[in-house]
Amino acid sequence: MSAVLVAAGAGFQPIVAQQAPVRPSPYTGAPQLQGPPAGEVEVLPVRGNIYVLFGAGSNITMSVGTDGVLLVDAGRAGMSDTILAAVRRTHQEWLDVNRPRPLGFGAETRSSVADRGVLAPAKPVRYIVNTHAHADSTGGNERLRNSGRTFAGGNVAGDIRDSGEGAAILAHENVLKRLSMVPAGQPGPHPDALPTDTYYVEYYKLSQFFNGEGVQLFHVPAAHSDGDSLVYFRNNDVIALGDLMSTRTFPVIDLDAGGAVNGIVDGLNRVLDMAIPEFRLEGGTMMVPGEGRVVDSGDVAYYRDMVTIVRDRVLDQVKKGRTLAEVLASRPTRDYPHFEVSSGPWTTDMFVDAVYKSLGGGKAPAVPAVPPARPAGRR
Ligand SMILES: [Zn+2]
Repeated sequence: MSAVLVAAGAGFQPIVAQQAPVRPSPYTGAPQLQGPPAGEVEVLPVRGNIYVLFGAGSNITMSVGTDGVLLVDAGRAGMSDTILAAVRRTHQEWLDVNRPRPLGFGAETRSSVADRGVLAPAKPVRYIVNTHAHADSTGGNERLRNSGRTFAGGNVAGDIRDSGEGAAILAHENVLKRLSMVPAGQPGPHPDALPTDTYYVEYYKLSQFFNGEGVQLFHVPAAHSDGDSLVYFRNNDVIALGDLMSTRTFPVIDLDAGGAVNGIVDGLNRVLDMAIPEFRLEGGTMMVPGEGRVVDSGDVAYYRDMVTIVRDRVLDQVKKGRTLAEVLASRPTRDYPHFEVSSGPWTTDMFVDAVYKSLGGGKAPAVPAVPPARPAGRR
């Protein structure tokens, strides 16, 4: 994996140098590099014109190119200026290296007129995808959406239409619902922070190529939440996973937002159906989890196996009517100590608790309906 990143990143300067090694890798036990210091972000190339921005909340996958920028997730609210600076720099560096082909034909499009230098670069952010509704994925929606520079002229009619609107925000319908749900008495979100284009069926796709490739969203029902989307970059063969996976912790299951462990397993299996490794389970399709490093099929398969094993151990005990305390005491995560954490926002006990509850644990067994006794003497 790391070899792939190094090869793809030759000549690319990271925004911020990585810190010293800390915790060993959960996968190999080898020392692993930590993310950027708090308040700073780091950009690494994945493949082609796809990059990942770390350190601003959820990992942000970005597509940069002559059509502009598409971001998968928007980071935490306070990080938007840092994100924008990193996005603009990455975008400009990409454009500097990958100039459009020289003119010489009549049918100029917005991809080719930029070469004349008559236009400002495409507006920085044209699309934002929210993989789900959590604040570390949607907090930057409003600021990033309104960051787009307006331009018009030449054969760029497509840009005139939305010149005053800023970037489109794409998400599953349940993301819009959850972001719109505000406790009574509290101010609602700014309209610009909400998704502009939602879908409620199995998938959604951009209606035309963006930066030279098709981009598809696939809904994963009831997994991390009830509004999860995978984002698939078809030509670069990169999938943004949202919080379906983390390389640092067990998967976060937000029961209150409609998440469930079976949805996580189904979602990871879905990803493995889509992904094609280069050799054995290494390389090939690259995946970007919501937290941690970039992964390939082998990493996702390992993670899928782990969640499945823990799920089955807990399910076995749920069927036997065990209490949560008994399940925790049995330590169903015992084979994965490198993922276990006892403090922080998502502890191992919280994970086991969420698995237990999403499998129906702790509820009184359903009482079979007993038909009322018929009055004697009547038929
Ligand atoms: Zn989340």
